[in-house]
Amino acid sequence: MRVGICGGGLGGLSAAIGLAGLGFDVEVFEKSPSLRATGAGLNLWPNAGRAIYALGLREQYDAISVKLDHYFGYDPDCRPLFEHDTSAWPEKYGAPSVGVYRLTLSTMLAEAFGMDKIRFGHELVSVEDKGDSAVCHFSNGVSYEGDVIIGADGIYSAIRKQLIGGVTFRPNDHHAFRFRAVIDLNDVDVDPAAQTAFYSRGGFLSVIPIGDGKAYWFGSVAGAASIDEFVAYFTSWTKTHIPRTLSITPREAVVESPLFDVDGSPYKWTHGRVTLLGDSAHPMMPDMAQGASQTFIDSLALRNAFASTKDIDEALHVYESERRAASNYVVKCSQKGSFLGRNNVNPIPVRYEQEIEAIAV
Ligand SMILES: Cc1cc2nc3c(=O)[nH]c(=O)nc-3n(C[C@H](O)[C@H](O)[C@H](O)COP(=O)(O)OP(=O)(O)OC[C@H]3O[C@@H](n4cnc5c(N)ncnc54)[C@H](O)[C@@H]3O)c2cc1C
Repeated sequence: MRVGICGGGLGGLSAAIGLAGLGFDVEVFEKSPSLRATGAGLNLWPNAGRAIYALGLREQYDAISVKLDHYFGYDPDCRPLFEHDTSAWPEKYGAPSVGVYRLTLSTMLAEAFGMDKIRFGHELVSVEDKGDSAVCHFSNGVSYEGDVIIGADGIYSAIRKQLIGGVTFRPNDHHAFRFRAVIDLNDVDVDPAAQTAFYSRGGFLSVIPIGDGKAYWFGSVAGAASIDEFVAYFTSWTKTHIPRTLSITPREAVVESPLFDVDGSPYKWTHGRVTLLGDSAHPMMPDMAQGASQTFIDSLALRNAFASTKDIDEALHVYESERRAASNYVVKCSQKGSFLGRNNVNPIPVRYEQEIEAIAV
């Protein structure tokens, strides 16, 4: 069976590993010339870890990620707002909550699949379903025909737009931008096995260790549309380490991501022999830090669906039935925002236990 995966991000690569493990002939087509290297970390939760373990990547994943034993929240005067002990989560939920450097994770996945099987510089421009196969056309003039095409081309998916639609974006009126950077862990005064975050109604900044001596900070401020406005907001938070952390972060290391509220969701994922996976299937706000976790769960579900039947259409149906409603539930959870934000929700580790681990199906 030939499978073409459009998008070489976390979803495309993890799906490729799962399907190649079933003996399928899998190729990944990625528009960028190399793996994405934006200065970013990720907080991944036990549900991500369980899926990654089940895809056969336990040893590599444990080696590159930092187990988070605590989540600490403080106010702008450094007074404690909450503390959540997560050290027992591996026993309780089957995997830890971790911090990891995105590029290290992508590289681990690409090496597990086979770097030589990733076709970089292939930007999908259109896809056609032919009933018992599907064809992708790329901007470099190359076409590929497979028994199945997976659209793992991210939040603004070209495949979703062409075949399914159903999603529109509007600027988030509370936190319109997320700012983030990777710095040396030694340069910041935080527990090296914890997420440490500082919150007010208007904004927050959070720091997690991501391995290899690095830390990742990320945050948003209501009304801040530039790094200067973001930094200015924290100038008076002198009892915290934030003014210093921001002052030692080189401006060129800071990545700005516009945040959008997502209206609607794809009413179906599968169109003949083409289906969606990851952010293309369930675009969501990053406030629950669940986008990548849900993506790894998709990849595992897709592999399991194809392992359960030789009928391709049935496998795609089983995959979508298992994942579409479940991931849409998480999309809705993510729309509520961040701790002390516009909806005054609980701290993120509390929400993970209450809304994801205990309730998600
Ligand atoms: C600021 C921010 C912080 C986040 N933090 C977290 C977090 O802490 N934890 C978490 O779980 N999630 C987090 N997420 C979400 C997470 O990044 C995504 O859910 C995850 O990367 C989805 O994987 P994906 O493979 O579907 O998409 P992506 O990782 O975006 O990969 C899509 C790939 O497709 C490629 N592509 C796009 N268009 C085409 C095309 N036309 N042809 C070929 N290739 C194409 C892209 O170059 C990219 O490599 C965050 C997101 C943001 C924006």
